[in-house]
Amino acid sequence: MIAAGVVITPVLLSPLPRFNSPHSTVVEARDGSLLGARIADDGQWRFPGMKAVPDKFEKSLLTFEDGWFYYHPGINPVSILRAFRNNIKAGEVVSGGSTITMQVARISRGNRPRSYTEKFIEMLSALKLELFRSKKKILQLYTSNAPFGGNTVGLEAAAWRYTGKSATEITWAEAAALAILPNSPALVYPGRNQERLKTRRDALLKRLYNKKYIDSLTLVLALDEPLPGEPKPLPSKAPHLTDHFFITNKGEMIRTTIDAALQERAIEILNNHQKELTGNHIFNSACLIVEVETGNVLAYVGNSSLDDAGEHEGNVDIIHSLRSTGSILKPILFAGMQQSGDILPNTLIPDVPTRFPGFSPKNFDQSYSGAVSAGSALSQSLNIPAVKLLQKFNPEKFLDLLHKTGFVSFNKPADYYGLSLILGGGETTLWDLTGAYASLSRVLNRYNNSKKYYKQDFHPPVLVSNPEKVTLLTEDPDPPLSASSIWLTYEALQRVNRPETESGWQYFTSSSGLAWKTGTSFGFRDGWAVGTTPEYVTGVWVGNATGEGRPGLTGIAAAAPLMFDLVNLLRPGAWFKAPDEELNMIRVCSKSGFRAGPDCPETVEIQACVNGLRSEACPYHQMVHLNKSHTLQVTTECASPGDITNESWFVLPPAMEYFYKKKHSEYRTLPPFAPGCSSTRNIPVMEFIYPTPGIKIFIPRDQTGELTRVITDVVHRIPSKKIFWHLDASYIGTTTFIHRLEILAGRGDHVLTAVDEDGNTIRCAFTVI
Ligand SMILES: [Zn+2]
Repeated sequence: MIAAGVVITPVLLSPLPRFNSPHSTVVEARDGSLLGARIADDGQWRFPGMKAVPDKFEKSLLTFEDGWFYYHPGINPVSILRAFRNNIKAGEVVSGGSTITMQVARISRGNRPRSYTEKFIEMLSALKLELFRSKKKILQLYTSNAPFGGNTVGLEAAAWRYTGKSATEITWAEAAALAILPNSPALVYPGRNQERLKTRRDALLKRLYNKKYIDSLTLVLALDEPLPGEPKPLPSKAPHLTDHFFITNKGEMIRTTIDAALQERAIEILNNHQKELTGNHIFNSACLIVEVETGNVLAYVGNSSLDDAGEHEGNVDIIHSLRSTGSILKPILFAGMQQSGDILPNTLIPDVPTRFPGFSPKNFDQSYSGAVSAGSALSQSLNIPAVKLLQKFNPEKFLDLLHKTGFVSFNKPADYYGLSLILGGGETTLWDLTGAYASLSRVLNRYNNSKKYYKQDFHPPVLVSNPEKVTLLTEDPDPPLSASSIWLTYEALQRVNRPETESGWQYFTSSSGLAWKTGTSFGFRDGWAVGTTPEYVTGVWVGNATGEGRPGLTGIAAAAPLMFDLVNLLRPGAWFKAPDEELNMIRVCSKSGFRAGPDCPETVEIQACVNGLRSEACPYHQMVHLNKSHTLQVTTECASPGDITNESWFVLPPAMEYFYKKKHSEYRTLPPFAPGCSSTRNIPVMEFIYPTPGIKIFIPRDQTGELTRVITDVVHRIPSKKIFWHLDASYIGTTTFIHRLEILAGRGDHVLTAVDEDGNTIRCAFTVI
């Protein structure tokens, strides 16, 4: 009893080996293959978390080091006695006689110089380890922490560095060589050591054969295999993602959702495009591919990895960089307005010169079409209609919609962005953009399958699959966008009609089956492209990480071709199903796209969101009274009732008409009134383009300190008519054809009046601040 206590007490008091050394950060693809790793804080390649010891390595190791591992209690008296005898003979400690368990104890104590005291502590620790840990666990501790030469620690890091493979994939010859290294790590260095390593490895292979672990053919082939040479660089298949986890999950092994094969192809395609872009001094690009159903990220290429990428900020992870959105948010507004019933899919939207204080949007091609259907405005990415729509929808409401759909980077109040928000006045990331489209597609698919909405469906992309931990973007059970609004938007985005530049879009005629949108930021600094099928969303950004703009750096010319090549990597799928239960048939005016009014001559039934039933009726068809020959407007003042015919006339407001006419030769201007007839109807003949009623104008001073002038602009249905201008009570000038005038107005409230030669009058009150 006392004797037992004498043995057991020191064992219990001895330290239990622990390993607190920092680990490398290791990032794996979803199949467990290595995407990349970052060295541990102490400069060692020490991979975390090896769960099971590969069989080939275990057999090699135990055959080489500790044949009785599974039978001894941590120390092996026979080998200790043998080692003791050898040491006495040599006069110093040359041999440890250590079991694997004792070596675990030794490694945990930092490989101190060998001495009898150390050896004694190791033996006690080994006994304690055997009491408290399973054999498998001890073997795993050894395999994870043994030194493999240089700064390589643990089998997994050693396998990758010496064989370029995971430890689970190594051959018998590799397993044998690796089993020898912890005992004499210096053997890995080239030179004569290699011969000694080969002698030992071959001897071990023969022992493995003798133990019948391998057959004779395997032995012959294994003896013929070359030795592991100098450490190889670790794979670097997703360097920016690896850096990302180095910050968020340092020292951990991360199993990501990345599809290794797709990732490699995406890098290849991106770098191919990058070579061409570099010719135009566009040095950076990034792409993200997300699976719709799960939100899993399948490919993550944070930047170009061409050889010269380092000189051009290639280390910057663009996927998480904030960049100006350009037009890329327009579909979200379109969807929001379908859902609210503010517009129908083809409602005509004004496309006329528009100026806001300090902000005058222009279309990409600098032209105006007068009026354009909402769907065409979206697929052609026209800027002015987009601004008009945002004004109608309300920037604050839009900002809220952006937040709920996944654009979380807009952290300033709506006033800060103003109407320019829809043209790139704010910044987002490729991460948020691709994630938002994935959420929308997911909601549409889910609704089609279950007729229900789930608030969990709106979430950011997922890099590490964990169903327990889902980030919700909204607590609201009602979706920020309904399936029908998303579907109508995707239908518009599927149209191939992209004259954002002269060339480019014609190449994409096979894009049906893909809802896609491009964006170009102000000053040609950012080119975006995003496309979704029911299964995948592909997001692309190109530009310069430094922010430098380049001619030709547009979403359509630079980003879309890369996106289409990436989309071609993915399985082509069917188009989205229409959420029929949620779509309502609405009769609309064929000409204006508005809900049909009583005077609309031609109508057609279309599908729209339920709120579309309450949308505005066509404001452009008006019943007018004409003479028999339809050349003059008449009233009972100047014509007898029998000589009056009624006709429904398509009348756009003057400014819209002015530009619309140029592109639509079939447009007929409303005839003038017959002599003697005064206008009884309120169809304006003139309209202010600038200033607009109620506007507050800030007038800067020029270099000489003088107030600069305000240029006023009016459109008349019959441009040849003279217009007489008055500012407040003073006459200031007359114009014909081009009704534009420079005026000087001091601080305060003003009224600008325009009177045409027929006495028609319009007024505009404005304030100079
Ligand atoms: Zn109509």
